[in-house]
Amino acid sequence: MTAHKILLLVLDGISDRPCPELGNRTPLQAALTPVLDRMARDGICGIMDTIGPGIRPGSDTSHLSLLGYNPYEYYTGRGPLEAEGSGIHMEPGMIGFRCNYATLDTQGRVTDRRAGRIQRTEALSAAIQDGVDLSSLGIEFVFRSGAGHRAALAFKGVDLGVSVTSNDPKKEGAPPLSFSARDGDESDKRTADALAAFVRQAEGILRDHPMNASRVSQGLPPASTVLIRGAGKMGHFEPFSSRYGLEGSVISAAALISGIGTAVGLSRVEVPEITGSTDTNLVGKVSAALDTLKAVDFVLMNIKGADEAGHDGRARAKMEFIEKIDSALAPLISLEDCLVAICADHSTPCSVKDHSADPVPVVICGEGVRVDRVIQFDEIACAEGGLHRINGSSLMPILMDLLNRSPKYGA
Ligand code: ZN
Ligand code: ZN
Repeated sequence: MTAHKILLLVLDGISDRPCPELGNRTPLQAALTPVLDRMARDGICGIMDTIGPGIRPGSDTSHLSLLGYNPYEYYTGRGPLEAEGSGIHMEPGMIGFRCNYATLDTQGRVTDRRAGRIQRTEALSAAIQDGVDLSSLGIEFVFRSGAGHRAALAFKGVDLGVSVTSNDPKKEGAPPLSFSARDGDESDKRTADALAAFVRQAEGILRDHPMNASRVSQGLPPASTVLIRGAGKMGHFEPFSSRYGLEGSVISAAALISGIGTAVGLSRVEVPEITGSTDTNLVGKVSAALDTLKAVDFVLMNIKGADEAGHDGRARAKMEFIEKIDSALAPLISLEDCLVAICADHSTPCSVKDHSADPVPVVICGEGVRVDRVIQFDEIACAEGGLHRINGSSLMPILMDLLNRSPKYGA
């Protein structure tokens, strides 16, 4: 018997270093995780450098690598992938940006970089989409709301550069900065000028918008401008289905990860009440993955909350969230005809409050795997498993081989 499907479950930033408040254990070691440990016992384990030894991954570059897309070849910045994940269809060559709604005072200084964590900005973004006109600059644009105060912008036009500075002053009390071309290049200058025109026109629209009037009357900070950063040009991605012969889907609350998924041709599955935080709807997410696997051959699912706890340096909260994840994963144990690969995209040690290059634990369960002697899913135990230490770019080839669908190299 051979499995026919793959569930790739990325527990974002779950991997860690020893934490003094947990008796020098990692949150994954300290947490009670009967389901993950069962997977470790029934599967083959290892540790993994998602990009390469000593390379500190972003979530975007590591997910590309795990899907088998060399980030050094395919990664062109966060902006275009985030724009794609916000629902903008990014064609190769389009320029994508990450945006925030922000509040300005009467002097034009930024008083809140997130506009009071404003929610549901779709009406504002629609007004900007309808009202702003960049056609005299030869540019078409798409502007879409993201989660909370976030939004995304995309430019389509001839000869637009991406080496431009942001208008985000990165602090409150200072006015937005001017956009400029980093190296004085003509194409970069065109993009910088278009961004300036976009923000100028958007501010005029936001000033008169009823949603802002109503926020001001409630004592809430209005969304008076748009801060823009992360310019990048959308690349060309070989479709996942032609690379592997598998039709797939992506399930993630993070626009960046959904964007990577849809960029390579995975279809996006929406799950209600997923937040990308520790209050996310874990049970809904897991059952959506199982439902989706009835229709497709491959599902990439990202669960984000542990990364957030790591960035906040909260070891105990991270451990508790890991326990919540573990109980939500119980239905995976009885999954049939499907390989389950569980890993992290990078370590987010509580002591570092950022990503580190420490390798992450990985387990593969399902038909045909050579079960090793590891019986716990954590950074230390998995290091003794049968996969030993692999690169993230090897994960898909290993899974494809277990499906008996790997092309033969040589005679
Ligand atoms: Zn991540
Ligand atoms: Zn992170």
